[in-house]
Amino acid sequence: MSRPCPCTSKRTFDQCCGPYLEGRRLPETAVLLMRSRFTAYALGRVDYLLQTTAAEKRAGLDREELASYCKAVRCVGLKIVATEAGGAGDEAGVVKFHASLQHNGKRTLHVERSTFVREEGAWRYVDGETN
Ligand SMILES: [Zn+2]
Repeated sequence: MSRPCPCTSKRTFDQCCGPYLEGRRLPETAVLLMRSRFTAYALGRVDYLLQTTAAEKRAGLDREELASYCKAVRCVGLKIVATEAGGAGDEAGVVKFHASLQHNGKRTLHVERSTFVREEGAWRYVDGETN
């Protein structure tokens, strides 16, 4: 499939986040996990969102709530602003991003500094600070 990836990388879904969402590959860096989670929000892939959340935070998530959030919001674009660590050889990392969202017909800019850790070799989202 050659549709553009929802994370707005300008690559195709198959060459970008597709393999991660389909479980064929693990994102090597925190940024790649971040991008794939944005795509999962865009496509309403709640299982992927739960699976890529750090174990300590997963219990606090509500599947229904996540699903209705995904439905209510349109993920327009993603811009990675800064990263700290989060590379192939790291155990933790930080990604700062701007996500353009549309909610109830209104465009908003979600600014977040997200923290990621590696659990059993796989990057997971811990939490984020928004402003
Ligand atoms: Zn992508």
